[in-house]
Amino acid sequence: MLWTLPVLWLAALAAILLWYLRDIGRLWREPVLRCPVLVLESDDWGAGPPAQATALNDMAALLGGFQDTSGQVPVMSLAVVLSVPDGKAIAAEKGPYQRTCLDEPSLSTVLDALKQGEAEGVFSLQLHASEHFWPNTLMGSVDPKVRSWLSQPVPAWTEELPPHLQSRWTDASSLPSRSLPQHAVDLAVKEEIEIYKRVIGSTPRVVVPPTFIWTPYVERAWAANGIQCIVTPGQRYTFLAADGSHIADGAKFANGDCSGDITYLVRYDYFEPARGRDAGYALHALGRASSEGRPCILENHRVNFCRDTAVHRTSLEELEKLIAGALSLMPTIRFLSSCELLRVLKEQDPQWVARHFNERFPCFWRRLRHSGRLWKLLKLSGLALPGELLTRWALCSVKPSHV
Ligand SMILES: [Zn+2]
Repeated sequence: MLWTLPVLWLAALAAILLWYLRDIGRLWREPVLRCPVLVLESDDWGAGPPAQATALNDMAALLGGFQDTSGQVPVMSLAVVLSVPDGKAIAAEKGPYQRTCLDEPSLSTVLDALKQGEAEGVFSLQLHASEHFWPNTLMGSVDPKVRSWLSQPVPAWTEELPPHLQSRWTDASSLPSRSLPQHAVDLAVKEEIEIYKRVIGSTPRVVVPPTFIWTPYVERAWAANGIQCIVTPGQRYTFLAADGSHIADGAKFANGDCSGDITYLVRYDYFEPARGRDAGYALHALGRASSEGRPCILENHRVNFCRDTAVHRTSLEELEKLIAGALSLMPTIRFLSSCELLRVLKEQDPQWVARHFNERFPCFWRRLRHSGRLWKLLKLSGLALPGELLTRWALCSVKPSHV
């Protein structure tokens, strides 16, 4: 019968929309920024080898040579690790875990470089962790490599630990990992916030969970100690599987989503020249993010700038290309720290965040176009056509605006 075809088509449309309702809702509710925004984030800096100081000073000098149309210099938001094992004490006493904090005289060049860059406005400091691991897990390890790493006399590179042991907020003494006791989480969070306040001189507002493993309980403990924002990869991984892979709990985030006192930011892509994700790769991501009205939050790690002279030099060159390229391709681009982006999203500042349907819809539609399977289904079902027409109408009716 002829009438069955439209009915089947409508049923298919309804099924697609129902199945993807939460994803579509997330794409729609995420704020639309009115100009391109670049947020550079680099992790793992702080307590560790003094070689970081030179890398930080070089990066600060490079960043300070650029500015956007508002006069803002590019900012590297640095996730700071506050301590490493006190190898000598651990080797000598064979007792409980002992730490060397970032404010120890032996690490003063690194702390000075961080604070100098912050004072110049090229660095914004945020919490990574007290340690980039759970100390009791390492202390309980019988692996000779881990034992020797723990008791080395010089400040350690945490990147040398087995990957699963670099997670902090799960008990990875064996895999699959297990939840940490809640009272231990409470104590550890309180302690790391206190160390941050003492060492950095302010209360951290933004945290980047090490290896992106954390739990809702850890979130609540952070919030109770003043943290306002968690940087995420768009979902929450809560433990490690038997093969060491990250397991998510089903929670998915968009920029600006809130839970209680916590607001989430979502990293968009990578700038990791040491792993082939260079300036060209990052500029492509910036173009895509800007077309979607999203901040381009790029993930980076200190390993790009430390440990190997050639890699250090290449990464600085790529950073320069990235910033110069961004300013050249997008003259209206704005450089923000994660903390400043948090303010923009929380306040829904109309200078930065689009409110009107015809400004929001084209960006929402581009997000859909980049949504993979959902977009394929929209095209197959014919739903893409009215959306395309609506986008064209919205683009014609909106005037370009600048922050
Ligand atoms: Zn890290």
